[in-house]
Amino acid sequence: MSRTIESVAIIGAGTMGAGIAAASAAAGCRVLILDTDAASVEAALEQVDVEFRHLVTTGLVDSDLDAVAEYDWICEAIVEDLSIKRELFTRLEAARSDGSVISSNTSGIPLWQISEDMPERFCSDVAITHFFNPVRVMKLFELVPGANTKPEVISAFTEFGAERLGKGVVHAKDTVNFIGNRIGCYLMLSGLHLAKPFLESGITQEQIDAVLGAPVGLPPTGLYGLIDLIGLDVMELVGRNLAANLPKDDLGHPYTSFPSAEQKMHDSGQLGRKSGGGFYRQVKLSDGERRKESFDLQSAEWRAAQPADLHAVSTELGNVLFDDSAEGELAWQIFGGTLQYAAGLIPEIADDVINIDNAIRWGFNWVKGPFEMIDHLDSRRVIDRILGEGKELPAMLEVLQNSGFESFYRNDGSEYLGVDGQYHSVN
Ligand code: NAD
Repeated sequence: MSRTIESVAIIGAGTMGAGIAAASAAAGCRVLILDTDAASVEAALEQVDVEFRHLVTTGLVDSDLDAVAEYDWICEAIVEDLSIKRELFTRLEAARSDGSVISSNTSGIPLWQISEDMPERFCSDVAITHFFNPVRVMKLFELVPGANTKPEVISAFTEFGAERLGKGVVHAKDTVNFIGNRIGCYLMLSGLHLAKPFLESGITQEQIDAVLGAPVGLPPTGLYGLIDLIGLDVMELVGRNLAANLPKDDLGHPYTSFPSAEQKMHDSGQLGRKSGGGFYRQVKLSDGERRKESFDLQSAEWRAAQPADLHAVSTELGNVLFDDSAEGELAWQIFGGTLQYAAGLIPEIADDVINIDNAIRWGFNWVKGPFEMIDHLDSRRVIDRILGEGKELPAMLEVLQNSGFESFYRNDGSEYLGVDGQYHSVN
């Protein structure tokens, strides 16, 4: 039975639910917004463009849950808590109609934990539909099937995400944090630890953020600026989830908790932009001027932000990784380390390089995905450096090495290298 999504019921009217509701209404769908909190529902409705508000019905979970029977897609976007989500899903499953599809927008709770002991109909109709924040801006839409999800359910979500919402659909697997956050958060959490010796040797946070920006094809927020944006509280939860759910031998284990300076910041409520400051803050001086300040992790004190000096660093995309300088070493360890981490995660988190590259470009705004970047850097050079350090090659680099080929993509990106060591057509 093919499924078509023409209407969407969103449960949870917070940051994400409001964004999904606004995007769905703008796509011309009938939308239902429910929450336990009336003020959140009101605020979510405000975010829908006025011209589409007539498509939206609102209500409260306790009194209006049965209305989900009139909708094709039931999308859960409530608080990130397994038992609260499961309780809600039990009620939604009883209320929804046959032929509808149901999903969770969880950032990292595995679908198998949500589906455990749920009815058969639920298990065949459920998926994780993971949008990125802000929903209207971010292109990435990760789609994760459960062990028993029917193919037509995934087709319906794929079509809706791509055609109606204009998102970039990435097919992920039911593994912790899926694709984007698994790799993106590895960069941030490993970065905090690997940056320590560089900070101790006198390199500033500003310098680190500048190196981990345009020179490696990352957004200008770099490392510390990006964590300020996301919040140390969110990153701490991500770390806990990783500690509990990463495979035993995963390279991310040493980095699932903060270094001590960052843990102290977290514990004192210095969480980032949402709390008025994290690694950086804006202060208003007595003359009314604003000044950017940096929190010096060595002295645990605020100081005026210093402009980063990148004179010694090549600005040609990626060259810094091979610079014979402290900045080059920093870039290689943190960014190069993340490229190696990503190259070790196929087929665990995705079937191919395309889904990983798309997830990272669309979810984290990297100029090039990890495999595209390795091609750009010259895979031979990357492989030689890793082997020269006495390390083992991550799985996909080993596939490349054994294949005798030189790159993950060829023919202007129309073909990619599969885990079988053969090229396949991208489309
Ligand atoms: P939020 O805190 O902004 O909103 C959650 C909403 O759920 C609140 O309005 C709350 O009143 C409501 N709620 C709580 N319990 C409820 C219940 N039992 N029934 C109905 N409503 C209930 O949270 P958010 O940031 O929008 O996150 C929602 C989900 O999306 C979480 O699973 C989160 O992990 C995931 N997510 C968040 C982001 C992000 O950047 N914020 C990105 C991707 C995914």
